[in-house]
Amino acid sequence: MQEIGHWINGRRVAGTSGRFADVYNPATGEVQAKVALASKAELDAAVEAAAKAQPKWAATNPQRRARVMMEFVRLLNRDMDKLAEALSREHGKTLPDARGDVQRGLEVIEFCIGAPHLLKGEFTDSAGPGIDMYSMRQPLGVAAGITPFNFPAMIPMWKMGPAPARGNAFILKPSERDPSVPLMLAELMQEAGLPDGVLQVINGDKEAVDAILDNRTIAAVGFVGSTPIAEYIYARGCANGKRVQCFGGAKNHMIVMPDADMDQAADALVGAGYGAAGERCMAISVAVPVGEATADRLIEKLVPRIEKLKVGPYTAGSDVDYGPLVTRAAMERVKALITSGVEQGAELVMDGRDFTLQGYENGFFVGPTLFDRATREMEIYKQEIFGPVQTTVRAKSYEEALGLAMDHEYGNGTAIFTRDGDTARDFANRVNIGMVGINVPIPVPLAYHTFGGGKKSGFGDLNQHGPDAFRFYTRTKTVTARWPSGLKEGGEFHFKPME
Ligand code: NAD
Repeated sequence: MQEIGHWINGRRVAGTSGRFADVYNPATGEVQAKVALASKAELDAAVEAAAKAQPKWAATNPQRRARVMMEFVRLLNRDMDKLAEALSREHGKTLPDARGDVQRGLEVIEFCIGAPHLLKGEFTDSAGPGIDMYSMRQPLGVAAGITPFNFPAMIPMWKMGPAPARGNAFILKPSERDPSVPLMLAELMQEAGLPDGVLQVINGDKEAVDAILDNRTIAAVGFVGSTPIAEYIYARGCANGKRVQCFGGAKNHMIVMPDADMDQAADALVGAGYGAAGERCMAISVAVPVGEATADRLIEKLVPRIEKLKVGPYTAGSDVDYGPLVTRAAMERVKALITSGVEQGAELVMDGRDFTLQGYENGFFVGPTLFDRATREMEIYKQEIFGPVQTTVRAKSYEEALGLAMDHEYGNGTAIFTRDGDTARDFANRVNIGMVGINVPIPVPLAYHTFGGGKKSGFGDLNQHGPDAFRFYTRTKTVTARWPSGLKEGGEFHFKPME
């Protein structure tokens, strides 16, 4: 059985804790590898080594650091297929989707190539008589990132790009469910020229996470994952005096107005709801048609489209629309939530619980599931399902639909489908959610904007990637400088007293 260890000081090393977690092939249900779970001592040693490597890296001129990012982009493109295959094998998502996962991370690295420009700081000439004032964005030292299973390439790159681009050393603790790609990314970073020790990848579970939160050298922690863990990490990290940003779960509503193009809305809902088996924090999991007639038309359009969805293993290439869930536990949880929806009175239009695939009977598949007439009180509406389940809540009016999105405890993404500019504008202005789509179902901002939700989907002041990433991984220092005049006046050998 393959054993997956850590990446420390520029090489792969085996774990020493003696603890391991199983890594599955979700399509077959087989354990394909074991990943080492780091102890506190292993984590602390990796941080100490990172702290030693950091000052020299921070002193490297910003253009040279940016060139490492430039070369990293080239290598990511070179190895795209290899990375996508490794990603799909552990995560289960389709190969085109895995390429998208790598690509959206790569775009953040491209943005990091501009770090020298973004980090120039501010300067005020003659803030007072003979006084200049300037601000510098200095690295924090050692920062850490803790990332989820669902984007094992993109989300690590959101962090391992911006933090080192500004001269920080970085500790990545990826998800133990799909650990191979983060290690491959670290290897490529080294090949691109990143000095050993500047990026350490430590696999692990709660023990490694707690060691990060309690380590005195780590100055900042960025987390992405489920909300209960986000809240825990935010509280413990802040209590230990660290800069912390945590991004949690989601329940993204799509409002469908009566004037929307219903074919476009149905296509959007199918892609955004079932793509990646619903395992996306920006998946649309709640459809809110406004008015009974709109709801009837929408369901009528959705059903034939959902019936056509092809579910299967990533090895089928682009012949499948989505793959299995990540673990058996995830599959069981999604099925149990579907059952709770039935018990609590929602109308089950399509049931994916009994889905099976010949030759993949032990895979973690759930077929596409559609609920209609769900209500606010039901668990299928309150909880993030994180599976291929679309829940329809019928609203009587636009205000009721807006209220549903606003009252939900999550606030990651949302969308409205309409032909009316005034309604769309009102929605974008009033809704208390971080990322809004207007006739766009998954409004994931591009790398040069920032990504982040509110309410229980985001904790901390700054978003991820875009300019915010450079704010998060730097500390501003402001210098006020006065140089007494004198030297320019000729042969004076004494400084004049300050006037
Ligand atoms: P998770 O919370 O189970 O795990 C995330 C990370 O936390 C992993 O590295 C894991 O090892 C660690 N972890 C797990 N349990 C822990 C514990 N008890 N103590 C300390 N650390 C722990 O999340 P997941 O299942 O890997 O990812 C799916 C979740 O991530 C979903 O809720 C999804 O919405 C969310 N997500 C959010 C965003 C966003 O930007 N808001 C993006 C992607 C995913």
